Amino acid sequence: MKNQVQLITYVDRLGGGGMADLRALLSEGGALHGLFGGVHLLPFFHPIDGADAGFDPIDHTQVDARLGTWHDVATLAREVDVMADVIVNHMSTKSPQFLDWFVSGAHSPYEGLFLTMDSVFPEGATEQQLLDLYRPRPGMPFSAVTLGDGRRRLLWTTFTPQQADINVHHPQGQAYLQGILDALQRAGVAMVRLDAVGYAIKKAGGSCFMMPETFAFIREFAAAARARGIEALVEIHSYYQRQIEVAQQVDWVYDFALPPLVLHALFNGTAAPLKHWIGIRPGNALTVLDTHDGIGIIDIGADASDRVGRPGLVPPNELDALVERIHANSDGQSRQATGAAASNLDLYQVNCTFYDALGRDDEAYLAARAIQFFLPGVPQVYYVGLLAGENDMALLKASGVGRDINRHHFTSGEIDAALARPVVQRLFELIRLRNQHPAFGGRFELLDSHDGELALRWCHAGRTVTLRVDLKAQRACVEAD
Ligand code: BGC
Repeated sequence: MKNQVQLITYVDRLGGGGMADLRALLSEGGALHGLFGGVHLLPFFHPIDGADAGFDPIDHTQVDARLGTWHDVATLAREVDVMADVIVNHMSTKSPQFLDWFVSGAHSPYEGLFLTMDSVFPEGATEQQLLDLYRPRPGMPFSAVTLGDGRRRLLWTTFTPQQADINVHHPQGQAYLQGILDALQRAGVAMVRLDAVGYAIKKAGGSCFMMPETFAFIREFAAAARARGIEALVEIHSYYQRQIEVAQQVDWVYDFALPPLVLHALFNGTAAPLKHWIGIRPGNALTVLDTHDGIGIIDIGADASDRVGRPGLVPPNELDALVERIHANSDGQSRQATGAAASNLDLYQVNCTFYDALGRDDEAYLAARAIQFFLPGVPQVYYVGLLAGENDMALLKASGVGRDINRHHFTSGEIDAALARPVVQRLFELIRLRNQHPAFGGRFELLDSHDGELALRWCHAGRTVTLRVDLKAQRACVEAD
């Protein structure tokens, strides 16, 4: 993967078109030409508008015809590194495999592919075992269904009832996942994002999240990707120590602790927790401030999955204050999109654009991006953040889905208007600096500075680039030579 900034985007929400329009934006003559070394195309499989914005594929090996074809993906992949999701944990209850099992039950070749409570707990489960299941969302991971033969079953559904969890070790599960990798390889995809892979393995008596068996599966799957020339990124929101452990065993992780820590530093005028994290964080990380999901809180909080409650990177009262400050900065908009206030909720995430989380303050926003770009790893910028986008309250109202607040559909007119804004132009300059300055290929240093300041430096072959952020003033200054 190139050591250059990457874009994260839906294919149809940046300019309103499909693959061809997105390619036009990124190619010679397009407004975003030359800005990105790679692009993470959020799920573009059939269909993109199911129960979870593409994360519930009916056919994971088919490009949604409204967006384009595999040929379009391959054409784009010749210009920039393309990252695609592999949704390993579940498939749609409208998938042909599920429908076949639904109708034919035990006679279906897919019998055993879909996990049920009984298939994981053949001896039954105790209350404690159920309480021990690690949950990203409230409630139990089960949905009752009546199959075609009249049998009632409790499907294992980690996310929504329309996303049926699969047994990744079932022969049909293995063939399914390998088939997806094959399709992505044929299209020249450089990197896969193992979506929600922390939940992929279930075992009676375990937490069913990041167990040793899960690590083994990730290693196996990443090896299968590598054998096809594809790198693997593991997508896990979790306690920060666990993220460090995961990073030691895989190609790439996300630095999900960074967005809340950057906010914490800017809100409180102190870099102490951020500096601590910089000292211990994994270097094989993709850095983000925003993604299509919310701002992760669990990533810097105490360990929720362990009864001892190991402390987080910031104490609980400061975490509560951080969330409240996001709500205040966004005039209460994020509150309407977060937690119990919105459906499709993720307990540990605050839904808000990063620009709104910082009260639409251009200087603070650019300081946050500069910190992101100066940390070791490969930076990714979400399309809404690229355009310093604001919360989409209309979309939130229309869908009732919290995360939609940060999933605006930009028309080409809106893109043009955003491009004319100084904050966006200055962000583009920062991206170019990060991509082009040779020092970023050299040695990183966290410079000594007082608590209210953060100073980061890169040096290579006599060239240096330094970032100094005055956290109290929320201002950044970059010196490059
Ligand atoms: C994705 C979410 C999705 C979930 C289930 C995640 O981690 O980022 O957007 O809802 O996996 O597929």
